[in-house]
Amino acid sequence: MSQVAGSSTPSAPYAPGGVARIIVVDDEQYMCDVCTRTLRRSGYEVFATTDASTALDALRRDHSFDLLLTDIRMPTISGLELAHQARAIDPSIAIIIMTGHASMENLLQAVKRGAVEFLCKPFELEQLRLAVEQSLHHRRLLQDSLRLRNIERLLSSSEAINASLDRAELTRIVLQTAQEHTGSRVGFLLLSDGHRAVDVYASEEGAMLLPEGRALAEQVSTSGHPALLTHTGPLCTSADEPIHRGLATPLRAHGDVLGVLLLCDDRPELLRSGVQESVTLLANQAGIALRNAALYGEIHTSNQRLQELDRLKGEFISIASHELRTPLSIVLGYTMMVRDQVQNEQHEYLQRVLDNAQRIKDIVDDMVNLRHLETGEMTLNLHEQQLQALVSQAVERMLPAARRKRQHLIAQLPQGPVTFLVDHEKYLLVLGHLISNAIKFTAEGETIEIRGDLWRWNAETAASSSDIIFIEPTKSHVPQRIWRDEWVIIQVCDTGIGIPEREQTRIFERFYQVADSLTRENGGTGLGLAIVHELVALQNGVVWVTSSEAAGSIFSVALPYRAPRDEAD
Ligand code: ADP
Repeated sequence: MSQVAGSSTPSAPYAPGGVARIIVVDDEQYMCDVCTRTLRRSGYEVFATTDASTALDALRRDHSFDLLLTDIRMPTISGLELAHQARAIDPSIAIIIMTGHASMENLLQAVKRGAVEFLCKPFELEQLRLAVEQSLHHRRLLQDSLRLRNIERLLSSSEAINASLDRAELTRIVLQTAQEHTGSRVGFLLLSDGHRAVDVYASEEGAMLLPEGRALAEQVSTSGHPALLTHTGPLCTSADEPIHRGLATPLRAHGDVLGVLLLCDDRPELLRSGVQESVTLLANQAGIALRNAALYGEIHTSNQRLQELDRLKGEFISIASHELRTPLSIVLGYTMMVRDQVQNEQHEYLQRVLDNAQRIKDIVDDMVNLRHLETGEMTLNLHEQQLQALVSQAVERMLPAARRKRQHLIAQLPQGPVTFLVDHEKYLLVLGHLISNAIKFTAEGETIEIRGDLWRWNAETAASSSDIIFIEPTKSHVPQRIWRDEWVIIQVCDTGIGIPEREQTRIFERFYQVADSLTRENGGTGLGLAIVHELVALQNGVVWVTSSEAAGSIFSVALPYRAPRDEAD
């Protein structure tokens, strides 16, 4: 603890636990000298005076005395009165009363005023040494128990401090707790930007922090060390009364100083032993809570900003898709018409225009679909369908793209028809995205296989009871959800570039693309799998991928099997 006084420069450190300091008071100079010599020889630091008022001033001014050794009878102030005052300043100070008249009355008074030891004059020097030793030991015990009690009280307030994430509420709780602990008259919390206090909170309405108090507190914030502030001019006013003393403690969080807790009081309460320690504990706690509140505030603001961005994004997608869709269908329609009327090169050029216009349309459709999924506008339209027919339709739609890469699309389906209830368009959309990706990420001339079946996991044989032997028959790859009940499963298997394991969950996120030049060459928006994921979830299904780099990928979609008769239910 530093002491920032008048000149505002830190002075000697407050050092409890260092060499014990003893104040000796006896109106006989001879006694002062003997005690001083004896105690100094034992290693203590001693201040001796024959005047009780001087002793009282020293106790008030310099609050680091551990023991008061006082004569009982002195001309201005009695030893008992001095003991009483010393206790008010520091409740744990050790006190030894020396007297030549050890009456019962004196003894009783001495005990009442908090004296621990009594020395009857004349006494042996060894007796003096022993009494001092015992008293100091007793003081240490008392200090420890006061410290524990303070920490206990502090801990009970920490719950309230940590529970609040509102800065203003937090400062109120911290100031109130600090005042309860120290009994100080008024408190201020100065929150700084590192050097200057930018916000000042007071514990009571009428309290005013004066420029001197603010400047000294800012010095403490810069130095990062607690300090006792004593100033010739007032630091602050409370109910228009000036206060000249204060205890300033920096609020720390993870090594940074966030501000200063300044407690002001002209009475010696602030200087009691243990007070500074508990205020430091409180300030540390407050620092961390304030940092948390600030972080929470930042997250809250960012969240609000994100929500606003999301709203704007949604609005943009709706407007853009509406505005793009109409001219696009006109472009597509007319180009198709003209293409069919021309031949050779011209036909080929117009086909390219059409392919690219179709690509734009697919992107717009993706954006609209995702938006509808996001807003919950997409609903299921279930109808009885045959798995075989659905797969054929999907394959047919993707044949032109596969042919351009000289790839083969083959379907492996059960012999007998698998009929189930499904949203036809959404199922084709899912299959379309998966087959399109397989084509995109697989080399020319390769084969892409689409397998489908009604799947029932057989717990006894630990294998699927479906006709088709799936490429991944081991249970470990299959999500747990489909280990029971019946599912319609589709797998799109390619021998393409594959997906690194760490990316396999991320590819289902919006706009996520595996950062790879190969992938980039293939174009795309990164929305396809996000749409697949949402569409499958909408139908209560599961989608997963099994893949290894350079070996290929298997995308599997499982939808709960809805038997046709369910339609009537
Ligand atoms: P896009 O295909 O438009 O980039 P998707 O959401 O459909 O977006 O796919 C996201 C990413 O997942 C792709 O960019 C690619 O990196 C990876 N990916 C998807 N399917 C395959 C596949 N069959 N083989 C290899 N990588 C794939």
